[in-house]
Amino acid sequence: MVAGSNPAAPTTDYMKKDKVVIIGGGLQGLATANALIDRGIDVLVLERNKDVANEASFANGGMLTPSHAIPWNHLDDIKSILSGIGRKDSPMVLDIKSIPSLFVWGLKFLANSSHKKFIRNAQHIYSLASYSKKLTVNIRRKEKFSYDNRSQGSLKIFRSEEHLNKTEKLSKKIFGSKKRNKILTSDELVTLEPALENIKSELVGGMYYREDEIGDAYKFCKLLEETIRLKGGRILTNNNIKKILLHKGKINCVVTDRAIINTNNLVVTAGSWSSSLLRLVGIKLPVKPVKGYSLTLDTYGVNHAPKLGLVDESIHTAIAPLGNRIRIAGTAEFSGFNTSIHEKRQQYLYRMLEMIYPKLYENIDKDLGKFWYGFRPMSPDGLPYIGPTSIPGVYVNTGHGHLGWTLAMGSAELFADLFLEQETEIAPEPYLIGR
Ligand SMILES: Cc1cc2nc3c(=O)[nH]c(=O)nc-3n(C[C@H](O)[C@H](O)[C@H](O)COP(=O)(O)OP(=O)(O)OC[C@H]3O[C@@H](n4cnc5c(N)ncnc54)[C@H](O)[C@@H]3O)c2cc1C
Repeated sequence: MVAGSNPAAPTTDYMKKDKVVIIGGGLQGLATANALIDRGIDVLVLERNKDVANEASFANGGMLTPSHAIPWNHLDDIKSILSGIGRKDSPMVLDIKSIPSLFVWGLKFLANSSHKKFIRNAQHIYSLASYSKKLTVNIRRKEKFSYDNRSQGSLKIFRSEEHLNKTEKLSKKIFGSKKRNKILTSDELVTLEPALENIKSELVGGMYYREDEIGDAYKFCKLLEETIRLKGGRILTNNNIKKILLHKGKINCVVTDRAIINTNNLVVTAGSWSSSLLRLVGIKLPVKPVKGYSLTLDTYGVNHAPKLGLVDESIHTAIAPLGNRIRIAGTAEFSGFNTSIHEKRQQYLYRMLEMIYPKLYENIDKDLGKFWYGFRPMSPDGLPYIGPTSIPGVYVNTGHGHLGWTLAMGSAELFADLFLEQETEIAPEPYLIGR
């Protein structure tokens, strides 16, 4: 069977059982496949959509930002989530109807909001993110990948002294003496990013994070897909996993809507859908969908386009220039797999662009904006789940939440080492299921 083919009836794919079957062709599934192939393991990726990376990995914020990658359990974020109950114009929204389904997950989320746990989890995210950044650079150089990537660092802007001081203090607590950022005056900000000139008077300063990058995650995934196929890995799209069957307590096969595939090893990298798939074999993994939106606009030939990725925490927005486009991403809706798009959401992202780059907003063709949403696979402590489960032969690499692009290559490498029971480059314990 070839990717994208459409056979009339289900077939049985009698694969050699030593292959690893990976469910989900997003950032994590593809990165996992690549890391396993590089260790000489045969892989088969099964993706239900007609193309890879068409869910959360499609039009995300594009920020690959180890130096300010922190969990969402901070008390300020929790206040923001609670203040967004029932509202459509708030950066964080909690749908009242979803509260019952979020109850247990929510308690775990709150349990991880203590200062001590928040700092510890942020440090673990940083370790994985830095590892990941290094590996992303390695594969880019080795395979000559080009995905509208830029490596000039990223910025955070501040509209109040209080917020700037708080962020600096938090940064010191997370990173200790290691200096991950440089504080900038508003003049220095504008020197680094001239596109901020028009809001200079509103800013008290900013932070510059030298090690950060930006890039189009979908383009990266397509390059990864090609590389995997060239190295002999198989990726079957249009294959929706319906059943996972065990035999004598071990993985035996997966049943898609068009094939039965025998396997001894299964990796679930199905993003926000990982929990429901794992429930088929009785595993409870607390990963919930958190909906986010992005807006992509053409900047070809338009003046005042920025050069650097930027985060404005006060309005929960990230903006990244991606080639001749600009992407504005933000908002978090705790509303399950709600696929409706509210008009206010679209207006919100346009408003964010106007608040940060008013001149660009003025000059850009707003009618051609591409609006998109995706479901971030969120764990309650902000860390992904990587490694074996309680069932022999069933593994996971999922739950990367708002940081799946930043964490992808490192998570996959860590996974591959754990899979082969080899020594890992970073400590695996914080990311194991039973942590
Ligand atoms: C608005 C937004 C902005 C973001 N911005 C950033 C950012 O700037 N930086 C960053 O680091 N991260 C960002 N993220 C997070 C990042 O995009 C995600 O964490 C990442 O894409 C998750 O990758 P994944 O492979 O786990 O999930 P997905 O990309 O969702 O992939 C899961 C795949 O599994 C498939 N699947 C599910 N069920 C089945 C089944 N039954 N059978 C077969 N296949 C199945 C799906 O079709 C899908 O292709 C953002 C996310 C959003 C939504």
